[in-house]
Amino acid sequence: MKTVFPDDRGYYNEFGGVFLPETLIPLVETLTGEWNKAKVSDEFWSMINYYHKYYTGRPSPLYYAERLTKKLGGAKIYFKREDLNHTGAHKINHCIGQILLAKKMGKTRIIAETGAGQHGVAAATAAALFGLKCVVYMGEIDIERQKPNVFRMKLLGADVTSVKDGSKTLKDAVTAAMQDWVTNVDDTYYLLGSVMGPHPYPEMIRTFQSVIGQELKTQILEAENRLPDTVTACVGGGSNSIGIFYPFIEDKEVKLVGVEAAGLGLNTDKHAATLAKGTKGIFHGMLSYFIQDDDGQITEPYSISAGLDYPGIGPEHAMLKQTGRAIYDLATDEEALNAFHLTSQLEGIIPALESSHAIAYAIRTAPKLPKEHIMVVNLSGRGDKDIFAIADRMGVKL
Ligand SMILES: *Cc1c(COP(=O)(O)O)cnc(C)c1O
Repeated sequence: MKTVFPDDRGYYNEFGGVFLPETLIPLVETLTGEWNKAKVSDEFWSMINYYHKYYTGRPSPLYYAERLTKKLGGAKIYFKREDLNHTGAHKINHCIGQILLAKKMGKTRIIAETGAGQHGVAAATAAALFGLKCVVYMGEIDIERQKPNVFRMKLLGADVTSVKDGSKTLKDAVTAAMQDWVTNVDDTYYLLGSVMGPHPYPEMIRTFQSVIGQELKTQILEAENRLPDTVTACVGGGSNSIGIFYPFIEDKEVKLVGVEAAGLGLNTDKHAATLAKGTKGIFHGMLSYFIQDDDGQITEPYSISAGLDYPGIGPEHAMLKQTGRAIYDLATDEEALNAFHLTSQLEGIIPALESSHAIAYAIRTAPKLPKEHIMVVNLSGRGDKDIFAIADRMGVKL
């Protein structure tokens, strides 16, 4: 029998739930009620499908990476091209879904928090599209580090609010966004950037991102007349990976592999390997794995790809790891960089540094697999945003 997660209280086995101050509980209860209505509404889904088709540019192609496959000499590698979406990544999928829900709820203002700024840009894009006010909370240090994205958000009409508390990074921006939400709940929707936070967010965002895996299923049956052997994706908070995994959960013959950022290596403290090195804890409204010190203080994650350095992981991944239905591997900065250059030169595709972690897994494992093995890599985004970081690494001045 098919087991449905999360359960009524928002749990994925022991993970997930709603861990919030008393004042925020009624807000998420209202949201859960609205979401439960929306998710079974044909009208709601036809709106989403309209924007997928005419704004985002879905379905995204499934592309056979022939030259990369030949070079590696093993498994047949396909790319699911989320990099071709409007705004250059998968994040637009859950932003369109959430903004339509916010509209349905009669909200006129959205808030979001962002670390690297990519979620802020996607949220500001969706807000501009629907004429909603948008306030993005961002740590003072991140604002300094991510100037191009801050400028993009402003061009899109968003207000970027600098958070000067604590370590002045993502986790403090989360706290500020939650305070705003309590204060302005009547007109405000809190738009989250990955499959994290309190229930119903992880379920909601997974549902919006599942379009990736659903399309893949149709496309691979058309191309190969069977399901893939391996599906792999990079894991930050876990949204692009759960989106491509979810429609295959019941297809036990399909191996699902999430790839975390090992940064400078697991023997250093410079990584974002939440499942490999984190411990159970409660943060951002949910029970999951986090990178934290012995006192339960969340520590700063690190990766060459800013989009992977979230200190936690969505609760469904914590469950999938525990049950063994998905496995979680790692790629270092060096491996991701190698994958980045190889894909650019062999395929004419400059991948996001985040996605390069998943490609790195393919590069490492494909040569050892037979030619009949079909491996699909989720290309979660394009690498245009990363060229400055790459140039820096190469010692090139732009
Ligand atoms: C934000 C981002 C990620 C990481 O987020 P997930 O929620 O784990 O998908 C991965 N790839 C790209 C291109 C991103 O922008």
